[in-house]
Amino acid sequence: MFLKRLLVTGLASVLLAGSYLYPAGARLDEWIPADRPYEYPAARTLSSRYVVKEGDSLWKIAVEHRVDVDTLLELNSIRNPDYIRPGQLLTVPGIRLQHLVQEGENLTVIAVMYRVTVADLVRENGLDNPDRLFPGQRLSVPVHAHGGPAVPAAGWKSLLMPTAGHLTSGFGVREDGQPHYGIDIAADHGAPVRAAEAGRVVFAGPAGTFGLLVILDHGDGLTTYYAHCSEITVSYQDRVNAGEIIARVGSTGRSFGPHLHFEVRWNGEPYDPMLYLTGVGYEI
Ligand SMILES: [Zn+2]
Repeated sequence: MFLKRLLVTGLASVLLAGSYLYPAGARLDEWIPADRPYEYPAARTLSSRYVVKEGDSLWKIAVEHRVDVDTLLELNSIRNPDYIRPGQLLTVPGIRLQHLVQEGENLTVIAVMYRVTVADLVRENGLDNPDRLFPGQRLSVPVHAHGGPAVPAAGWKSLLMPTAGHLTSGFGVREDGQPHYGIDIAADHGAPVRAAEAGRVVFAGPAGTFGLLVILDHGDGLTTYYAHCSEITVSYQDRVNAGEIIARVGSTGRSFGPHLHFEVRWNGEPYDPMLYLTGVGYEI
């Protein structure tokens, strides 16, 4: 095992020697594609059991497990989605993601990242020595175990808070049972809305309940949404820098008072923006 590790380290050094081809500070998964193709986490279907709790709705269970209600209805031969009872056993499709181990990572770090336990990872991957991981190693992560990944490792970027204000609604299922795919930040009407990260404008205009909406594409499948704006100051296809003003806070669309509805999506799937907003703020 030691020899194998040495070999991998040696190989990594050789690859690193060619890293002038890549931006400084590129992560391992950014330079690996040059040598071997990086596969985005592949979701494989597997089933798991879920016991219905008091206060659950099919909607809530569907959101928590990142499946749609129809899939749950079909898998469990349920005709009336309003009729589920506490204690009922449901079959839910779980997913496994593939994680490419980065330099310096250990099982604890990876477990926290996906909200699974170290034991889950050890069991899933048949690891005989959990202390021995090497960069480039592939791990299968059974994310269904605890209701979905915190953030997708491959699409994670540190984002800036898009506007100065206070959080009035978080990500997840609201009290009325409806899913909320973003966060709401209450701010003054006309306050600047800034790009959470450098990117390209892939949508700018009115969009139904979103009101005036800007969507930025940051590459690697990551997009951010800025909704209910009063004014948009960028155009379709514009390139913007992180922190650049792209719009003004408003209350257009389905909104009750000026606020920014902010979403983070990876490959179209919404993730909790709070898990991304670790970027350093900016002076207003
Ligand atoms: Zn919202």
